[in-house]
Amino acid sequence: MIVCKFGGTSVGDAAAIQRLVEIVNARQGERPVLVLSALSRVTNGLLALVPAHPTERKAQLTMLMARHEDLASTLTAPGEALEALRADAAAIAERLAGWADGSVDAELQDWLVAHGELWSTRLVTAALERAGVPATWVDIRPVMRTGGQCSRAVPDQAGLPGRAQAVFGPLLDEGRVPVTQGFIGSTVDGRTTTLGRGGSDYTATLLGAALEAERVEIWTDVDGIMTADPRIVPEARVLRTTSHLEAAELSAFGAKVLHPATQAPLLERGITCVVLNSFAPDRPGTTIVSGFRPEPVMGCSPVRAVSWKPGVTVLNIRSPRMLGASGFLYRLFGVFHEHGVAVDVLASSEVNVSLTVDADGPLEALCRDLESLGEVTLYPNRAIIAVVGVDLRGTRGLAGRLFQAVREINIEVISQGASEINVTFVVKAEEGAEAVRRLHREFFGPGEVAA
Ligand code: ADP
Ligand code: ASP
Ligand code: MG
Repeated sequence: MIVCKFGGTSVGDAAAIQRLVEIVNARQGERPVLVLSALSRVTNGLLALVPAHPTERKAQLTMLMARHEDLASTLTAPGEALEALRADAAAIAERLAGWADGSVDAELQDWLVAHGELWSTRLVTAALERAGVPATWVDIRPVMRTGGQCSRAVPDQAGLPGRAQAVFGPLLDEGRVPVTQGFIGSTVDGRTTTLGRGGSDYTATLLGAALEAERVEIWTDVDGIMTADPRIVPEARVLRTTSHLEAAELSAFGAKVLHPATQAPLLERGITCVVLNSFAPDRPGTTIVSGFRPEPVMGCSPVRAVSWKPGVTVLNIRSPRMLGASGFLYRLFGVFHEHGVAVDVLASSEVNVSLTVDADGPLEALCRDLESLGEVTLYPNRAIIAVVGVDLRGTRGLAGRLFQAVREINIEVISQGASEINVTFVVKAEEGAEAVRRLHREFFGPGEVAA
């Protein structure tokens, strides 16, 4: 069997859903399970409802419903799908009615935002059935059990294969095409949770591993994983092949084309992942496989791609107590662990540690506890730039070339050498896109051949 995930723009309107139907039709023999995102912009629309003023809320919900109902009528969805949509809209209106504007409740938000995926899957199931594909709508929530953390829930991977096989196995055996939601799950006591923004990719690979898929296809709006985000670097090129590790590095450092956790479930089983363009389904896309380790090729660029991640804060901890002392970093990371804050880039000297964290984490509480270890200074609005390539550590002159390319941009924290495939550094967020463009020009400009 295979898993096919379609992102927001790939289910965004009637034409996109028609293309999806054709793609699925061509794969029926491979026993596909479909994992879908919400229609494009719907997740943001639902999130905006919670803090909105009650009258605005009503108007916004009506608009969101109108978009889904219009699509349902264009697709001539049967009454059952429409009834489900309307019942959900009534339940949302009722739950939000008692909600004062300005207040945000994380549990309510997860429950609310999950409707984007619940609705898109209803519409696509109906469209497939209209086209004669035997599709079945599946609520993923009892299958994708998660911990209780709101908006970034952690899936229970140990129990997933049993639950997924029990639900999807019989449907596939009957020759049906299951259509289910990405991004959402539920706790053991049935509370709806979400896996973090962009989490449908992660759902797809979790299910792919649990169902021992032959392949996971990620259908999106670009030709594959590219040498840089094409929205910033229009001349970026598609990587035909890459490895799970390379793709993981790129997505961890901001390549939005894949959720950062996407490759993890596939690594152990060596399942291939293919990133494809649903607007041009005949193009080859990017194939992500295990163990792909291109050798540096004479005359080819040593760099494979450049990505960047804004929304980052640099924390500097200065502590003369670090001098000659042991166990300092152990205590320091203990504090990060207690607050559940992940560190991306790290550099340390004798009395200083500089590291980067996501700006939307619980930084106030974290800093309060860090004060006991040293003097803490925060530098907000930063971006991480990641250069991913082949044996970067062993490539003579690479660092010189790289930093020469961004010489006019102030570089604040550098981490090189920790991994042979990547060099990361930090700049002010407003200079991030320009740094990516300059690096891309340097390593993929005229005369450079992509590796
Ligand atoms: P979907 O809704 O299909 O999940 P996303 O918007 O989450 O799509 O991801 C696709 C987008 O990722 C592309 O439109 C592109 O702008 C962006 N992107 C960022 N970095 C890269 C990259 N290195 N290669 C390809 N796309 C990238
Ligand atoms: N709809 C969710 C989001 O916009 C999940 C996804 O698209 O992967 O973040
Ligand atoms: Mg996405």
